[in-house]
Amino acid sequence: MKAHDGMYIDGAWRPAAGRDTIAVVNPVDEQVIAQVPAGTAEDVDAAVRAARAALPGWAATAPAERAARIAALRDVLVARKDEIAATVTAELGAPLPFSQLVHAGVPVLVAGSYAELAASYAFEEKVGNSTVYAEPVGVVGAITPWNYPLHQIVAKVAPALAAGCTVVLKPAEDTPLTAQLFAEAVDEAGVPAGVFNLVTGLGPVAGQALAEHDGVDLVSFTGSTAVGRRIGATAGAAVKRVALELGGKSANVILPSADLAKAVGVGVANVMGNSGQTCSAWTRMLVHTSQYDEAVALAAEAAAKYDDRIGPLVSAKQHARVRGYIEKGVAEGARLVAGGAEAPREQGYFVSPTVFADVTPEMTIAQEEIFGPVVSLIRYEDEDDALRIANGTVYGLAGAVWAGDDAEAVAFARRMDTGQVDINGGRFNPLAPFGGYKQSGVGRELGSHGLAEYLQTKSLQF
Ligand code: NAD
Repeated sequence: MKAHDGMYIDGAWRPAAGRDTIAVVNPVDEQVIAQVPAGTAEDVDAAVRAARAALPGWAATAPAERAARIAALRDVLVARKDEIAATVTAELGAPLPFSQLVHAGVPVLVAGSYAELAASYAFEEKVGNSTVYAEPVGVVGAITPWNYPLHQIVAKVAPALAAGCTVVLKPAEDTPLTAQLFAEAVDEAGVPAGVFNLVTGLGPVAGQALAEHDGVDLVSFTGSTAVGRRIGATAGAAVKRVALELGGKSANVILPSADLAKAVGVGVANVMGNSGQTCSAWTRMLVHTSQYDEAVALAAEAAAKYDDRIGPLVSAKQHARVRGYIEKGVAEGARLVAGGAEAPREQGYFVSPTVFADVTPEMTIAQEEIFGPVVSLIRYEDEDDALRIANGTVYGLAGAVWAGDDAEAVAFARRMDTGQVDINGGRFNPLAPFGGYKQSGVGRELGSHGLAEYLQTKSLQF
């Protein structure tokens, strides 16, 4: 697989300050496919300096010209979609059709939405005798995870560029090749030197150096709640802006009036997509006691269809972690009705699509984020009980409600402590704000709400 042996800083690929490298592993066959440089604080410092130097020019660039560069970036992502899909498949392990449709496809939609928003957003408004300007926050330190390698990058970089900010990106160590491809695309799109910079490296080294750097005005982080908490504390101590997109443990609430077969089928598909490595996955399925046995049978049947269709988990570490959770579920008394902890293949980080029945709300598998292809069916007695269970975790990222009509589902969804809810199978909307309540995070990504994260206001009185 193609890999750069340097960092993309100030519009060029430059040698890394140190000699250490990170091995990129294909999770399907466990072979090393490339090496990328492991950045140090020195690389981060060079990248932040380049971003600071480029800031005044980019911030002063007319929004229409910023929009044109983002549109050009979208066009490059379209032109190179096959290469992107192949790269994501190689380093994340996602089946190629899923990489083409989702991993390569969604970033095109998001980049396109920011090309339009940059051109149409009201960066200036009149309020009484004042004019209020929305100005860029400054230099953004973006730290992203591996689960949707390109989407997570575009969801930060596109709005940052639209706002007039400059960026230093530190992508996940498991998927740096997609990030290098993105840097090539930015270059090809004619974004001026220094506006976007890439430093590959380890989280506790390069990531931490970026989060702590005095020259960074906003840290935008997506990843685990444990790391997010540290980054939030660091940013708070420096009175620096911070946006955190963290973990989830979302509920799929099936009310008795719903189409049970559809709700269960879509619910299982939602978790199996990307092998369960989706922060907003509906990993807890809540079913009324009168329909519980039927739902368990339907879920087991639905999961079996994914046996040969899902890819592996991203790494040996995640493989061990997810299998550990499955063992814990069994040990705590949940009933396995599909899959299990045993590895289904000799090679690769595969986990069988797994369904647990008889899960109670306090079990570890119902409280902690597993980040694998595991669904837990939980029984409820009435709507208040369902709401208590749905809201009974530290997370609040997403969820689903199914009912005979939308109004009934909406009434329930409005009582959920969570950032987004799909009603009766509602489709993904790249303009809808995405982000968490409670420990799922601070701030929103996507659409105009996502753009606002990268802006600060100045008011002039007349
Ligand atoms: P992670 O927190 O380990 O890593 C995320 C990023 O942070 C990586 O780039 C990593 O290198 C970096 N990092 C690690 N330690 C750091 C440190 N001390 N300082 C600075 N940066 C550091 O998470 P992960 O395992 O890569 O991703 C899985 C987690 O991400 C899951 O919990 C998932 O729910 C969450 N996630 C959330 C969203 C969302 O939008 N809310 C989206 C995707 C993933």
